[in-house]
Amino acid sequence: MTIKRRQFLTKAAAAGTGAVAAGTFAKPAIAQERMEWKMVTSWPKGLPGLATGAERLAQRIGDLSGGRLTVKVYAAGELVPALQVLDAVSSSTAEMGHDASYYHIGKVPAAGFYTAVPFGMTAQELNGWVYFGGGQELWDELYAPFGVKAFLAGNTGVQMGGWFRKEVKSPADLKGLKFRMPGQGGQVLTRLGVTVVTLPGGEIFQNLQSGAIDATEWVGPYNDLSLGFYKVAKFYYWPGFHEPGSGLQCTINKAKWDSLSPDLQRIVAAACSAENDLMLAEFNGRSGPALATLVREHGVQLRQFPKSVLQAYGQASGELMQELYDNGDEITKKICASYFKFRKDALAWTRISDQAYANARLLEFKYPEG
Ligand code: CA
Repeated sequence: MTIKRRQFLTKAAAAGTGAVAAGTFAKPAIAQERMEWKMVTSWPKGLPGLATGAERLAQRIGDLSGGRLTVKVYAAGELVPALQVLDAVSSSTAEMGHDASYYHIGKVPAAGFYTAVPFGMTAQELNGWVYFGGGQELWDELYAPFGVKAFLAGNTGVQMGGWFRKEVKSPADLKGLKFRMPGQGGQVLTRLGVTVVTLPGGEIFQNLQSGAIDATEWVGPYNDLSLGFYKVAKFYYWPGFHEPGSGLQCTINKAKWDSLSPDLQRIVAAACSAENDLMLAEFNGRSGPALATLVREHGVQLRQFPKSVLQAYGQASGELMQELYDNGDEITKKICASYFKFRKDALAWTRISDQAYANARLLEFKYPEG
């Protein structure tokens, strides 16, 4: 900006102040462009990974826009309850939200695909579908009736199967368990005789401690360590069939989105894309050390789900997805068709790329360990 331009704007702003006081002239455009938005979230204040990711996203929007659009973040319950973020954005209570789309499958069944579905796609595969496989366009269509625009804005990577007080040795051991699991993963567990509970992150520990629930899933070592589940349940199961790479969404009230200048829209989209990368890097980067802490310092017992349990989860997951497809309304069917086709092709590629490499790396040979 040139000095002359700055001087002009200063004068214009001063004139604008007078105009507002006089109540006759409109404010100059530059003043209108300084906005503060509210971002409501589902996360307990300061929760590492998720809340800090939402904070980082908000900060980046402010930084990249040179302060033209600043975003104030609200923790779960500060402005609206944890699970009402989408409603708040839809109704314009807040301009923005950061949460998981699968909290809303009761109202929007296909929303789950944008977080994770049982035995669905990994983080990399989800990104491929949303950015390059038609997923974003379908998402826009899905949320249009709610007046909401959404972007991927974070990912937890593959999650753990959950914290259990007792070992799970066969599908029969699942029957009667009171297990906190949201989304379609919870619907799969229901089919296996589990009593499923949905609780926001900030309420899980006390419920597990009091025995109100027998088991819970949350995310993975990094996040779970900070919530302290190891203090009340010792068996930590893997892998998390239900959330193979959970995307988090930044939602924006569509009328507010449309009111942004094209450059601010690009800034918001770019900030979301950056957070989508960074959060995944953070979860992956911090989970290895956190896992070591859980096992070595807190005596956590790692357990792999037996093949029979994974098989039962898989069978029930496939049936659930088929029913969603068969019984869905028009948009649900469109998203199912797109997602399942993409998953099929992605599975074939991942099998001979990431999966084959990860398996090869486990063969016995010497390699430096730092
Ligand atoms: Ca989870």
